[in-house]
Amino acid sequence: MTTIHDLMFGPTIEDRACGDCVACCQVLNIDQPDLKKPEGQLCPHCTGAGCGIYETRPQVCRSWNCAWKRIATMPPETRPDAMGVLFTVDRHSPPRNLFENLYIIAVATGDEAALDSRNTRDAIRMFAEGPLPIFVSFGGMKTLVHPEPNLADAILHPEATFDRTLVEPGREWLKRYAPFARAGSGEAAMLPPGI
Ligand code: SF4
Ligand code: SF4
Repeated sequence: MTTIHDLMFGPTIEDRACGDCVACCQVLNIDQPDLKKPEGQLCPHCTGAGCGIYETRPQVCRSWNCAWKRIATMPPETRPDAMGVLFTVDRHSPPRNLFENLYIIAVATGDEAALDSRNTRDAIRMFAEGPLPIFVSFGGMKTLVHPEPNLADAILHPEATFDRTLVEPGREWLKRYAPFARAGSGEAAMLPPGI
């Protein structure tokens, strides 16, 4: 089955090793019969440098991989344990606004300041060349950083937005995003008619 991670980032790269990284063992919300843990809480099976039940770990842990494991142009220093930030693609179900149908998210795993590091900003710039919105997240709170606030306003409220020069770029942005929004949510909540 093709996942949204496969769709947006491609398959996992064979020679990308997790090493001592355990960022996803903290970041992911896992709700499986054999393992339940909330987002942001380190899995009880994590040794701090790997998985204590590696041979019998749940399927979700075997198949899930962050953006770094899938995108060849992300350099070694952007592995989540080195950068302090994990990039992935996600959706909120149900979406509470247009941008939550499908989005890139950068999650700070320890220090919030890592979201403002050069490596993180470079990665955000790279993802901003694609069609998806980008959120940054720390402590369970996420903030939209792409499109920037004025363009986001023009996308959400084209009739009322103050800067009229952003209305057309907003429409263009939305046209690029619409197919991915549909793929992410299945119904692309809050897409305006005709897009
Ligand atoms: S966050 Fe990425 S690199 Fe780190 S353990 Fe998970 S899949 Fe591996
Ligand atoms: S079971 Fe292992 S791989 Fe899965 S979240 Fe827990 S420590 Fe990580």
